[in-house]
Amino acid sequence: MLFPGLKKLRNQFGFQDNGHCVYGFRQNSFVMFADGQGMKVLSFFFPVELDAEDVAKVKSWHRKGYATELSAEVGTCCATMEFKEVFLPYKTSRMAEIITDLTDYVASKYPDAPRRCLGSDCSAQVDGELQIFEIDGVPTPLCVECAKQYQVAVDEVNSTFEEQPNNYEQGALAAAAFSVPGILLSLFLYALGRLSSVTGLVYLYLAMKGYTWARGKMNKVGVCIIALISLAFSALGTYVGFVFQLVRQLSELDQLADSPLGERVSYALELVEDPEVHSILVRDEIMTLCLCVVGIAYYFYLMFRGAGKVTAKKL
Ligand SMILES: [Zn+2]
Repeated sequence: MLFPGLKKLRNQFGFQDNGHCVYGFRQNSFVMFADGQGMKVLSFFFPVELDAEDVAKVKSWHRKGYATELSAEVGTCCATMEFKEVFLPYKTSRMAEIITDLTDYVASKYPDAPRRCLGSDCSAQVDGELQIFEIDGVPTPLCVECAKQYQVAVDEVNSTFEEQPNNYEQGALAAAAFSVPGILLSLFLYALGRLSSVTGLVYLYLAMKGYTWARGKMNKVGVCIIALISLAFSALGTYVGFVFQLVRQLSELDQLADSPLGERVSYALELVEDPEVHSILVRDEIMTLCLCVVGIAYYFYLMFRGAGKVTAKKL
């Protein structure tokens, strides 16, 4: 999410953005900035490795009080700054000042250093041949050769993922097996006299643990299996806990105190059919399932964002 301040800054420098990150070259330095949680982040990738003087220059912006956090080391070519926002958005004019100052400084000190490719171990530093790739959401300038290499590596990772066995059955069985202890939690909470909707999330967590333990493939089918099992166990756990609590309460009645457990259970099961009791059960079920659904929705959101899969696309 890009807020108006950063969009303004983007236009000011003629940069581009990929929806959550603004990026572009100014002189021979690559600049990137984004909104974080309660802060803005600004990164530089310089064409050369920084020497002590350069690092001091970068760090001067920390001393001036512009950047809250700053990292820049001698021998590396990057620097990152964070600007904390307490009540008001951080002034982007200050970020503009830093960007202009540092990129001008580097360009005048190293006028012949070409723009740098960020491929690991790249030796070819050819000006004008860089393309910007989005690697796991981060804009990255790469030379043609590194881009090719990276694409091969990405394809390999993605195809290894495709070739993985699905293990859906094992995953589903393990998810169910792992969920069984969750029923104990429902029983326990009912015994305490309060069912917490949090159990819905517990069932989701357990199903997920079981599924990944059995190496079930984590794709959309996998998430559906986890979702179905956690929903089923949320409903089952709440039902079992509810009946258990009824049995306990019935045991406290004088006329049922000496009756065998089986009789009390069957009486409790009959009691669940009673409209008034049933409506309490339904309320509890809804409570548990709701939070489970919220958890599942969040999980799906992460999946659709492409989490767990390496991506690289040309911007
Ligand atoms: Zn390269």
